[in-house]
Amino acid sequence: MSSNKHKKSPKYIFVTGGVTSSLGKGIIASSLAKLLQARGLSVTIQKLDPYLNVDPGTLNPYEHGECYVTDDGAETDLDLGHYERFLNVRTSQINNVTTGRIYYNVLNKERKGDFLGKTVQVIPHITDEIKRNILNLGETGKYDIVITEIGGCVGDIESLPFLEAVRQLKWDLGEKNMLVVHLTLIPYLASAGELKTKPTQHSVKELQESGIQPDIIVCRTEHPINDDIRRKIALFCNVDTRSVIEAMDAKTIYEVPLLMKKEKLDQRALYMLDLYNDKDADMAKWESFLSRLQNPKSTIRIGLIGKYVELKDAYKSIAEAFLHAGAENECKVEIDWIHSESLNENNIKDKFKDLHGILVAPGFGERGINGKIAAVKHVRENGIPFFGICLGMQMAVIEYARNVLGWTDAHSTEMEQNTSHPVIDLMADQQNVENKGGTMRLGAYNCSLVDHSLARMIYGKSKISERHRHRWEFNNKFRNDFAEKGLVISGINPENDLVEIIEIPDHPFFIGVQFHPELKSTVMEPHPLFVHFVKAANEHASKNI
Ligand code: GLN
Repeated sequence: MSSNKHKKSPKYIFVTGGVTSSLGKGIIASSLAKLLQARGLSVTIQKLDPYLNVDPGTLNPYEHGECYVTDDGAETDLDLGHYERFLNVRTSQINNVTTGRIYYNVLNKERKGDFLGKTVQVIPHITDEIKRNILNLGETGKYDIVITEIGGCVGDIESLPFLEAVRQLKWDLGEKNMLVVHLTLIPYLASAGELKTKPTQHSVKELQESGIQPDIIVCRTEHPINDDIRRKIALFCNVDTRSVIEAMDAKTIYEVPLLMKKEKLDQRALYMLDLYNDKDADMAKWESFLSRLQNPKSTIRIGLIGKYVELKDAYKSIAEAFLHAGAENECKVEIDWIHSESLNENNIKDKFKDLHGILVAPGFGERGINGKIAAVKHVRENGIPFFGICLGMQMAVIEYARNVLGWTDAHSTEMEQNTSHPVIDLMADQQNVENKGGTMRLGAYNCSLVDHSLARMIYGKSKISERHRHRWEFNNKFRNDFAEKGLVISGINPENDLVEIIEIPDHPFFIGVQFHPELKSTVMEPHPLFVHFVKAANEHASKNI
């Protein structure tokens, strides 16, 4: 393993789930990865998703939550956000593979004639492609451990090819080079006053029917599981009792790595992979983050204005970035989720009266934008800290054009083609784009910060790189008009002169960004824009007491 300085030959851990979805496979995978990383191993995590979309970029957030974007411009599952937030290492296109992508690749090869006239079949062609995508990550030579999370639930028809690929890999990789961690639920029957192991037994049986014997069973439970239950699960599921790991419900996901450490999940995994040593996972920094998160000295309320607020997962990375920034400021950030369609000029004052800062969220399309524009006007005029992200920044530009420059019909051509002041316009290279999937301006781009600006002060440097996901942009035709009326353009893409950040200097905190800073906030490196926004909101709160 890591003794080879140049290229590592990795071991593989698969995480499957049974009984029900939403047990937190992503968090268990991330927690295990964190503990292994804290023992000095280099680790990455991959997610295999069983649906037929080539990537989640075309999915409505109501379907699947936020679409997470990587530096290399992949539109991915939101679990990759957890991986980055826990591990503080970057993921890429190869870290998220869907059934759609697998079939797409295989069918393209078939059309090119790569299969030389053979009948193309699920086994071996689809399973070979799955295995290639799993092993690709290991073959980069960068990792000691590759963890692959299999989306969905054991027993779903659509995950069968993934499980079959895992079964085959046991033979390809050999004993001690891979292991399977199965996450299940131990429900508590209140009427009987008992924890029940039967669903776990059935789910393991289901996995065994696919030819896979799980090596470790992680049991999600509301109550502690005692030794009797551990022994019973071990006996019926064909594992060592030390391989039965309790995963109690936690107050925050950031507690889970420490719970897993107590249960020795990392030790057990390393032992079974023949990598065991008596070093301990050094979680000191993590513990100090958790202690700041759980012992805040003040509380603030931030209004998050968006149109998908019924589903909190649609803004997952923003909510997590607030937790990181809150811990950094030793301040609890409560989010008031406000539907943009519920806002208008008449009710805003009342709705915002207990809020200490407003974030206008990213989004697409026309629905709810009047509420967003009204919100920006209110906070601009009343000195309430404001943070606009992507569409939120675009709304701030429109509001400024309408109410400060006096262009009452100013708009984005995303919503109104015929405006005489298209202050937000479709990017030149988006004009002829027809396919919706993977065609936005995606991923990391450079941005130069203007000296003496708020952004420059916050970042503490003049060159930054942030991730993007949009088609519209600030219209440079109107740049001087805005500048003359006091709007500062403080971040610019040096390659194509695109406006990346706007701010208003004579305001306690007013900043809009075309990119998505929330995607780069991690436990170890909270994003500076969120940290300073929370700080400003905290100051605003203490002034208003
Ligand atoms: N709809 C806007 C655009 O495409 C903003 C996108 C976003 O908020 N991610 O430019």
